[in-house]
Amino acid sequence: MTTPAPTRFAPVTPLHVVPPLEEIDLAGAERAAADFLNALGVATDTPATTDTPARMARAYAEMLSPRSFDLTTFPNDEDYDELVLVRAIPVQSVCEHHMLPFLGTAHVGYLPGQRILGLSKLARVVELFGRRPQVQERLTVQVADWLHSHLRPRGVGVVIEAEHLCMTMRGVRAGGASTITSALLGALREDPRSRTEFLSLATPTPSTPAGGRHG
Ligand SMILES: [Zn+2]
Repeated sequence: MTTPAPTRFAPVTPLHVVPPLEEIDLAGAERAAADFLNALGVATDTPATTDTPARMARAYAEMLSPRSFDLTTFPNDEDYDELVLVRAIPVQSVCEHHMLPFLGTAHVGYLPGQRILGLSKLARVVELFGRRPQVQERLTVQVADWLHSHLRPRGVGVVIEAEHLCMTMRGVRAGGASTITSALLGALREDPRSRTEFLSLATPTPSTPAGGRHG
């Protein structure tokens, strides 16, 4: 009797994830950026600022463009059934109300079902939903829902802690304030032991800067 070749580490059915990119009109964005800056009294005709509208347009285009990636999953041949958690994934997004960045970290975990995935892919899923006009609550739920439907784990948990520059630099000017959101699905929501374990491990550490650090 022959046994089939081991498939343990063979990726199976990688899903090529292509973000639904809007057509970006860079020239139009550059003209609009110049008008916008001029209307605010910011000159764009000095040697230092003549390229600023084009830089602004490219910067926003980049902030709104997630990279495509392959979602590589593997059969869970070892029947690993404990929590898989990746902490401190960078979150870089733009609030849809002010078009200002919000920056922070995500802790993303799941309880494996029949498949597991390459750990780096969790960061790519955060980027997929971060690089678009967002609110933090929706970003958190979208990451959890997407993993739940594509990986079909027994449970998913996402905790995001972020500093919103629209709160730091305007309005209440609450520099350093961070916002925490969470989304729990499946066993991580319903099973008290799993839920407690996830939330204790995914608790943001006080020493971790909540994003917003400018180099
Ligand atoms: Zn905002």
